[in-house]
Amino acid sequence: MINIPTEQLLHWLTDPGQRTFWGFVASAYLLALIWALFNWQERAHFCLRWLKADYWWNPSTRQDYAIILINALLFALMGTATLLLILYVANAVYELLGLLFKPLFLADLHGTISLILFALILILADDLTRYALHRALHWRWLWPIHRFHHNAAVLTPFTFLRVHPLEKLLYQWRTAFVYGGISGSYFFLFGNHAQPMTIFGISASVLLFNLLGANLRHSQVPIQYGKAEQWFISPAQHQHHHSVDGSRYNFGSMLAIWDRMFSSWRDGTHRAELPSHNIPLTDQLLLRYKKTS
Ligand SMILES: [Zn+2]
Ligand SMILES: [Zn+2]
Repeated sequence: MINIPTEQLLHWLTDPGQRTFWGFVASAYLLALIWALFNWQERAHFCLRWLKADYWWNPSTRQDYAIILINALLFALMGTATLLLILYVANAVYELLGLLFKPLFLADLHGTISLILFALILILADDLTRYALHRALHWRWLWPIHRFHHNAAVLTPFTFLRVHPLEKLLYQWRTAFVYGGISGSYFFLFGNHAQPMTIFGISASVLLFNLLGANLRHSQVPIQYGKAEQWFISPAQHQHHHSVDGSRYNFGSMLAIWDRMFSSWRDGTHRAELPSHNIPLTDQLLLRYKKTS
């Protein structure tokens, strides 16, 4: 019998490295409250809804919690697998570059600037490949996998984790190839690891992203970013992506530039209804969809 500790099953709530860490959900709510204070008459109901039990506990969110636990169980066993794959890819890229090119002996240039550049390239590559994978997941036979995420009839911060295990696996492979590929290239160029700065750069951008209300994307709070709306995916933009009419728009994760470059962007003023159906969890897991649903 496999013994999985409770903290591993609940790490999505207790680990500050996760977007759905309770502290980030609380800070998102604080942000929503501040936003609502500017126009309490019209916006209060968005915040008050979070205080009702049926917002967190309904047929749609019960499916969210079920898949979170299923994924935690499935992936607990391969917790270090992504890390190993990153190292494997990094090593393979390093070896491949060594076969193709002569060493560049850039070790002297390794320093703060090269590390900042590296962190920037990694952030951009990370965001672009998220966009590309998300867009691909809306295409033909990949759609039934991603549809699991879109079947949510109520958006709460935890809907972020409502993903089919196959989608989670695809995103882990993406992480391994991007992080491994870029780290391997850096090591080839400079003969040095870039971890400390990268970790700082990535953590800082993730922290900022969480502070800017990343958790409000999966909620009913339609915050827009004003002038920054065309640079960053706001909660309202992602909510539009979840709507029945908006799923061909706003595939982006952090930056809105990819959507604008590839003509799939709509600003957050567009509102539309979320899907209302509730398909049994087993049908969604087995990718069994009737033609009409
Ligand atoms: Zn989508
Ligand atoms: Zn979503």
